[in-house]
Amino acid sequence: MDKTDLELADLIAQDQGWDNFGDMAEDPDGQRIILSSCTPGICRDCLAVTEPHEPDAVENWCELCDANAVVSINWLMMGIV
Ligand SMILES: [Zn+2]
Repeated sequence: MDKTDLELADLIAQDQGWDNFGDMAEDPDGQRIILSSCTPGICRDCLAVTEPHEPDAVENWCELCDANAVVSINWLMMGIV
């Protein structure tokens, strides 16, 4: 599954209760989550949203697919903005 960084960020935002990443990034509550030291992340392979992850996580462990495939929303945001 090849999703763009923005599509992955949208999926995390939806998991956290926003319609998309743009809405989350504009909301102070969303910014707090994105900029915190333990942020949600998403697996590039199975698209499971898990937390917490370090803000700079780019290949954290995914228990569901036994692979280092989780990227944090903070890291995704760097590629988007
Ligand atoms: Zn996975």
